[in-house]
Amino acid sequence: MARVAVVTGGTRGIGAAISVALKNKGYRVAANYGGNDAAARQFQSEHGIPVFKFDVGDYGACEKGVAQIVKEVGPVEVLVNNAGITRDGMLHRMSKESWDAVIRTNLDSVFNMTRLVVEGMRARNFGRIVSISSINGRKGQIGQANYSAAKAGLLGFTKAVAQEGAAKGITCNVIAPGYIGTEMVAAMPKEVLETKILPFIPVGRLGTTEDVARCVAFLAADEAGFITGACLDANGGQYMA
Ligand code: NDP
Repeated sequence: MARVAVVTGGTRGIGAAISVALKNKGYRVAANYGGNDAAARQFQSEHGIPVFKFDVGDYGACEKGVAQIVKEVGPVEVLVNNAGITRDGMLHRMSKESWDAVIRTNLDSVFNMTRLVVEGMRARNFGRIVSISSINGRKGQIGQANYSAAKAGLLGFTKAVAQEGAAKGITCNVIAPGYIGTEMVAAMPKEVLETKILPFIPVGRLGTTEDVARCVAFLAADEAGFITGACLDANGGQYMA
């Protein structure tokens, strides 16, 4: 029986590529999203992957969403914590709302979703948890104290959960992508991209969503059971930890 994979924020950008890559590998995929119904509808009709709308920052909503996925698709064996937002600004100008929104969506969400699937994974002696961090959680980034803090938080979370799950066949890993050509990056001023980002990527290009999806498929595989608590950097050589 094909394994069930849930991808948060799985209908657009990097998450959509992850959902499609896992489907192509034979997983039964459930793609979560937060609010963009039009994008989700288009994604579902293009790829035949069921979509589930709930706010990953809201524990109660996640409880209902996960229960619906389990009922309609099956028990969750692979969880990809991908949903994320930015609310950039220098710390001395950052509002409490921007801080809270990013921590809630990018970090609380990972607790919410992982907490809700990990008991089932322990009971079945198998699980793959992959969270999407960022190069900016590894090295910090001007204007992203909130985002860098949330993404760095995923690294500590991953190392703890990896140790807890190891004897139960559960791996927990993190991927730290560099700059990927999605809407999130397209929203940056062109001048910033051309002068402050591209010159510092040794491979000379932005990453693609498929570059990240390939990393997820690798870590999600049954054969990847010896890799846990790891951070896989996919950044074109921009930052070598
Ligand atoms: P996009 O903005 O293109 O897509 C974000 C996805 O997350 C959407 O599907 C969105 O749903 C969903 N989402 C946002 N908030 C919520 C929420 N509260 N509940 C449920 N779903 C939500 O982002 P990217 O594809 O660029 O980024 C994906 C991940 O990769 C993020 O965690 C990001 O931080 C990380 N990352 C991105 C990089 C890049 O260069 N793009 C680099 C490094 C890391 P909806 O469609 O409904 O809005």
